[in-house]
Amino acid sequence: MILANNLLRQYSLYAEEYEAKALEVLRSGWYILGKEVQAFEKEWAKYIGTEHCVGLASGLDALWISFRVLGIGAGDEVVVCSNAYIACVMGITINGATPVFVEPDQYDNIDADKIEAAITPKTKAILAVHLYGQACDMTKIMDIAKKHNLKVVEDCAQSHGNKWQGQKVGTFGDVGCFSFYPTKGCGAFGDAGCVTTNNAELANKFRTFRNYGSDKKYHNKVVGSNSRLDELQAGLLRVKLQYLDDMNAERCKIANYYLQNLNSKYIKLPEIRPGADSSWHQFVVHCSIRDELQKYLQEKEIGTMIHYPIPPHLSEAYEYLGYKKGDFPIAEKYSNEVLSLPMYNGMTQEEQRQVVDAINSFEG
Ligand SMILES: *Cc1c(COP(=O)(O)O)cnc(C)c1O
Repeated sequence: MILANNLLRQYSLYAEEYEAKALEVLRSGWYILGKEVQAFEKEWAKYIGTEHCVGLASGLDALWISFRVLGIGAGDEVVVCSNAYIACVMGITINGATPVFVEPDQYDNIDADKIEAAITPKTKAILAVHLYGQACDMTKIMDIAKKHNLKVVEDCAQSHGNKWQGQKVGTFGDVGCFSFYPTKGCGAFGDAGCVTTNNAELANKFRTFRNYGSDKKYHNKVVGSNSRLDELQAGLLRVKLQYLDDMNAERCKIANYYLQNLNSKYIKLPEIRPGADSSWHQFVVHCSIRDELQKYLQEKEIGTMIHYPIPPHLSEAYEYLGYKKGDFPIAEKYSNEVLSLPMYNGMTQEEQRQVVDAINSFEG
């Protein structure tokens, strides 16, 4: 059986180092907001290329706390792609703000040429989701934001270390939001997240907010949350960060093998936007008979996943927004077509060959 994702493989690659770090933290007697978190924040900021990084408990926290500290809530609108992950939209709506959906282009990311038509006097921000490991067109998005005086929040949960025109994502907007959920590029071994920013005042707001709104023990400035990155995850992330570029390069190699060898007329291969590179968080093909292809691969013991089967505007959670089927036809079409092929660090050449052979012999 070839799994869609096999987390044991990436752990095994550097198992001894993870285990040594875990023991070191366990034996330190200090488990929350200590030297590992401090060191990781410095190292992640340096890696991404921002002045500041603040460790948080998850990617969703990074998103909703970003909108909170930017002062975006009830009565405000935030532009987001219609094929986003549900957490992106929750990051907006937890604060009472309203998502305004814009359809994706052929690169599976927001179609920047359609953003201006979605802007109203209530629009306060654009949430640029770098889906599947590929950057949005940040040149166009930043130009639009500047012209209309909007904040830009980048959701880099699936894009750890990939770039737009040579500059890493998470450095363009007011805030970059990262999830270190175990399946993400620099995945932790539990829940974790962070934000990156060049704005010192914002960074301080994040630091205060994540710790009950406290900047000094028992002095609480605002009603905050508990969203602290813990020492164990921070320590393990520091180990993985040393290998992140290698891990991204390995997935790139697997993607190139797929791109060069998949030749089924039933699938459309992923396209990379000129100016972007991809960290290949997912290798997503489009197939008009996706469910048949997925069933066929399952019978051949090849696991696949669908990112995502229900677009946010049709999710039960967002019934209150009042959308119906047909409102965002591109996102709806994509939700019926997309299929994520097996892609993980430590995937063998034999496994890659089996996936290619199975898909190329699919008869529809
Ligand atoms: C994973 C993910 C999130 C949420 O991250 P968590 O750490 O699971 O809360 C948000 N946005 C995108 C695009 C993601 O892939």
